Amino acid sequence: MKKYFILLIILNVFNIQAKPNLIIILTDDQGYKDVGFNGCQDIPTPYIDSIAESGVKFTDGYVSYPVCGPSRAGLLTGRYQDRFGFTTNPTIDPTNPIAGIPLDEKNIAEVLKPKGYSSAIIGKWHMGTHEVHHPLNRGFDHFFGFLSGGHNFFPANYTLNDLSEVTRKWQWYNTKLIHDHERIDIKEGYLTDILTDAAVDFVNKKADEEKPFMLYLAYNAPHTPLQASEKYLKRFTHIKDKNRRIYAAMVSAVDDGVGKLMTTVRNRGLEEQTLVFFLSDNGGPLKGKIPFTDNGPLQKGKGSLHEGGIRVPFAMQWKGTVPSGKVYKKPVISLDIMATIAELAKASINKPLDGVNLIPYLTGENEGYPHEQLFWRKLTHGGIALRRGNMKGLKEKGSNKAEFTLYDLSNDQSERNDLKTQNPETAHEMIQA
Ligand code: CA
Repeated sequence: MKKYFILLIILNVFNIQAKPNLIIILTDDQGYKDVGFNGCQDIPTPYIDSIAESGVKFTDGYVSYPVCGPSRAGLLTGRYQDRFGFTTNPTIDPTNPIAGIPLDEKNIAEVLKPKGYSSAIIGKWHMGTHEVHHPLNRGFDHFFGFLSGGHNFFPANYTLNDLSEVTRKWQWYNTKLIHDHERIDIKEGYLTDILTDAAVDFVNKKADEEKPFMLYLAYNAPHTPLQASEKYLKRFTHIKDKNRRIYAAMVSAVDDGVGKLMTTVRNRGLEEQTLVFFLSDNGGPLKGKIPFTDNGPLQKGKGSLHEGGIRVPFAMQWKGTVPSGKVYKKPVISLDIMATIAELAKASINKPLDGVNLIPYLTGENEGYPHEQLFWRKLTHGGIALRRGNMKGLKEKGSNKAEFTLYDLSNDQSERNDLKTQNPETAHEMIQA
């Protein structure tokens, strides 16, 4: 274990700071139960599972919003995105300098840069399309991917040179990929594999440079459009439902990608100096008669303040420091990733964070709750939610406090048994909070 700490002591003696690398692997719209470590039966995810097995599986890992944009703004800043008005998905409009994380809020790359980190975002940005919000103008040193909230998976569809050519909604899914500032021509391949290869290249380059790095690998899989290559589809011929079959193939492509990336981290000898987080940006969408995602026992899905919208598959590893095979049941949130790396890198931040450094909780040094309470708000709907210990209160929409419901997640994680009538004081207190 303590190799890292011994290294830390040696470096401290020479007044050199050991700065661990950070890899965040974010998937898009993946259901709580759509990973093996949460009990998925029909889609094997051995490589994703290996992160949980080598480190920690969080049973109650949350994101700060039930859809993409605000959830990512929270993750990248370590602050509730409502604090800076990021309350909906940003407009995809390169002429709009407002849609994005405000310039006076620091994202994770901007915070780590002064500490000597080199940062990459590979995949989906979705944090503004105006030049001022371009990843390379927001602290990142490398960008490979696309600016909008989703993308087609086959390069044959990349017919537009730029967002300025978009004339109708969703056409931004058809733009050519971007490498740093340049649009690039890719003729073949499958987007998830292409992103994986870019991530592996980045880690190999950084390993050669011996410089601390942060990699934000933001796969847009398994978000729609449901598109998968034959290589992955043929693994799931036994799944009858067509949508679930394609979705399974998309998840499997991500899993292969995680395998390639983690193999690179291991082969380059970086495992003990690299924190790796895996999570989804929100719960699985429950569309159609037969939803193709599975949030397990959790109620509802993407868009909802019920558990199915905000509790996600969530795991991390840090070999040699965080014990392997741990199951952590106290609530944690995506906002904690920033707080954790900021403290380890001794980075300073201009505004107070809402997340906490998780490491003392995972090593057992601190046996308390990382958070006394967690909050969610959907400003556009009047929705609010709060979790305190095992109690969860929420109101999906509207201004009527009577809509507020209260659940004890310790025996009712499906949020079926409203306890508000029996506990009016607790409900009142939570609404006030
Ligand atoms: Ca999403």
